Order: sequence, then C-alpha cells, then structure tokens
Amino acid sequence: MKTNRILVALLALVLVPGAQAGAGLKITIRLMNSAKVANGTLAEGEKQAGRALAQAGIEVVWLDCSAGVVGPCAPDLGAGEFWFHVANWKPSASTVDGLGFTLLDRETGASLAGVYYPMVKDAARNYMIEEAPILGAAIAHEIGHLLGEGHSPTGVMCARFNRQRFMEMSQGGVLFAPNQAARIRAEVTRRSAK
Ligand SMILES: [Zn+2]
Repeated sequence: MKTNRILVALLALVLVPGAQAGAGLKITIRLMNSAKVANGTLAEGEKQAGRALAQAGIEVVWLDCSAGVVGPCAPDLGAGEFWFHVANWKPSASTVDGLGFTLLDRETGASLAGVYYPMVKDAARNYMIEEAPILGAAIAHEIGHLLGEGHSPTGVMCARFNRQRFMEMSQGGVLFAPNQAARIRAEVTRRSAK
C-alpha cells in the first residue's frame, strides 16, 4: 500500500513538470442544465471555460447530466468528477461570487458548484454582450474554486468581472495565473492519485 503510494507520487513527479495541455490531467464536469440554456450558448460557454483550463494543463470532459442521476451520471463520483448546476434561480442574498457558487466540504471532500443563469442573463443585457463568455468565465471561475483556488486580482479567479474582462474572455485572454495553474494541476493530480 505504502509502496504504491510512493510509486504514484514518483510517477506524478515525473509527469507533472512536463504537464502542459494534453499531458493527461483531466476532470469531468457533470453538468445539469436546469436553467435550460440554449445548447449552442452552453456549448460555447463550455468551450471558453475549457480553453482557460486547457491552458492551465487540464482537460475538461463535459457530461450532460440534465436528465438527472441516470445512465453515465449514475455511478458514484470519481476522484476527478464534479457536479455543476446551471441554476435557474438567483442568490437570495449578495454573495462574493455574484454569478456562481461553490460549496466545498473539506472534511468529506463533497463539493458542488454552479452558476446562476438569471444573473448571467442580467449581465449580458446590462453589458450588451453575449451570454457565452459570461457563462464561460463563471464556469471556469467556479471550477477554480472546486479545485481549491481563492480569488486573485487578475485573471479568471478575479472576484469581479466587468465588461472588458468578459470581452477578453471571449478572445481567450482571461486565464489562470501560472502559480494558480500549477496548484490546480497538483490538486487534480492529488485527487487522481487517491
Ligand atoms: Zn469566486
């Protein structure tokens, strides 16, 4: 048992330094589109979120679990799997993350994240931009929280997004900082070594 752990740790050491996009680090997002966001909009949001994570060296596999806990969404969550709600409700009180939420229980390892679609729609209307970059930024941001990251002054983990930042998101310019990327890669590695 111990030997196996050491072996895994050694393998991780060998693999991680070269870990750029496509080096095998992967998470699966079990996405429940409760808000019934149009498929094209959601796909574009996923693409933009996935691009930020790919740049950090993590591939995101999107699993449509809108039908509930059935089929491929029925088995217990694997180490690198997360539930993610696109919720059709707004937060009842003001939260730090106006567009989304992440609940992490470090004791049990349970986690849940999501975005508030009505807030995404409001932002799109107010800024007169498309919903996809807002969705993409919010999804990537909450995945960052799921992987243990806090807020930072710039990049995708910034607590406040404005129109300019959403526009940059749509151009692929809102990313995880190198030190954040290294930490979330380490977190995915740690989870998959369990
Ligand atoms: Zn946040």
